[in-house]
Amino acid sequence: MGNCRLIEECIFFGGAIKDIPASADLYRDFYCRTENSKCARFTVYKALGKAGVPDDLFPNELARALKLVAEKSAGTNVHNYWAMSLDDLQDLTPIKARDLIVKCFFEAQKETLAQAEKKVFGPANEITLIDDVIDLLRHTVSKLNRDFNHPTKEDLVAVVRELAAVSASWGTPREIIEFHKKQILDMLARLPE
Ligand code: SF4
Repeated sequence: MGNCRLIEECIFFGGAIKDIPASADLYRDFYCRTENSKCARFTVYKALGKAGVPDDLFPNELARALKLVAEKSAGTNVHNYWAMSLDDLQDLTPIKARDLIVKCFFEAQKETLAQAEKKVFGPANEITLIDDVIDLLRHTVSKLNRDFNHPTKEDLVAVVRELAAVSASWGTPREIIEFHKKQILDMLARLPE
């Protein structure tokens, strides 16, 4: 990755770290000029915006960053929809992200059925539902001429937008679509380009 887009304005380097220039240089070389997606400050910025980043958050405090994001997201989850956990967001790869999209879409369908008071009875039907979701994802990936087995971040973003449109055409409630679309796009933003 190249320079972080916040490198010119990041207040971190104006704080206490400026008195330890050797450490500041190490952070700059590793996070700001190379691994922005692993930076705790950048992670919170992408999810919550500039105002959500605590002044004292160090770039290497990723666990603290993920906790902050998860707590904030839980606060906006008034309907108690399924939400990705901290473990889900650790060590993301495109394959792990693809499988999280399957899980998220599956949960969204369950939430839709529950709102319509059509329950998913027992594990057998849940297996059928998840098979249907995987089939739909494969179909969507192939319709967009993308690779299901080796997806890129760009492939997955395109697939999520298409799935949101398909869900809307089925009559999935808007709040369920928007909640899951946002959490998936936030998750995908964490993948390197
Ligand atoms: S500390 Fe993090 S947010 Fe700030 S410029 Fe560096 S990579 Fe970007």
